[in-house]
Amino acid sequence: MELPELVYGDNYGLIKAMKLVEAVFDSSSPSVYNLCQLGHGLKKRFYNIEPLLDKFTMPVCAKCPTGCCVNSHGFPDFEDLIFFKSIGLSWLKYDMSKPEHGLCQFLGPIGCSLPRFNRSYRCTWYFCNSLLDTFEKIDNKSFMLFDEQLYRMGLARNSLIDMFKHLL
Ligand code: SF4
Ligand code: SF4
Repeated sequence: MELPELVYGDNYGLIKAMKLVEAVFDSSSPSVYNLCQLGHGLKKRFYNIEPLLDKFTMPVCAKCPTGCCVNSHGFPDFEDLIFFKSIGLSWLKYDMSKPEHGLCQFLGPIGCSLPRFNRSYRCTWYFCNSLLDTFEKIDNKSFMLFDEQLYRMGLARNSLIDMFKHLL
C-alpha cells in the first residue's frame, strides 16, 4: 500500500496525515507496542551515528557558500511522521507561508535547531557529492563505517514503515 505523499504548502494534507498516524497509534492493536519498540531502536541508531555525522559534515558544511537547508527539505514525509509518533514526539509546527526554497525555518545561528531524530529523514541522508568526496578522501575507514550505519538505519526505518502499513 502506498502512503500519502506530503507536499510543502499543503497544510490540509499534512493535518490529514497526522490524524491518520494518530489513529493508528491510538488504536488498541497490540502491534502499536512493537511499532514503538522499532521507533526507539531507530532513535538509538540516530544517536550512534551522530558523532560520525558531525565529524563528517561540520567542517565542510560550515564553510559551504551555498548551503542546502531550505524549507522544503526540513518538511517531513509521511514516513517521518510515523517515526516521530513512534518515539512519542509532539508534532512540530511548519510555517508553510515561508518560501519553499527559502532558508529553512529550523536553521539557527549554529546550524539546525532540531535534534537529528526530529528532522525529516532526508536531512539525515542528504549529502552533496563534494561532501561525500571530501569525507571519503580524508578518512576512508570512517566513511565505510558511516555508510554501513546509514544503510542499517535505512533497513530499520523500512521495518517500522512496513509494520505501520500492516496496521492501516
Ligand atoms: S551538504 Fe553540501 S551543499 Fe549542503 S551544506 Fe553541506 S557542503 Fe553545502
Ligand atoms: S537540517 Fe534542520 S535546518 Fe537543515 S533543512 Fe533539515 S530541518 Fe532544516
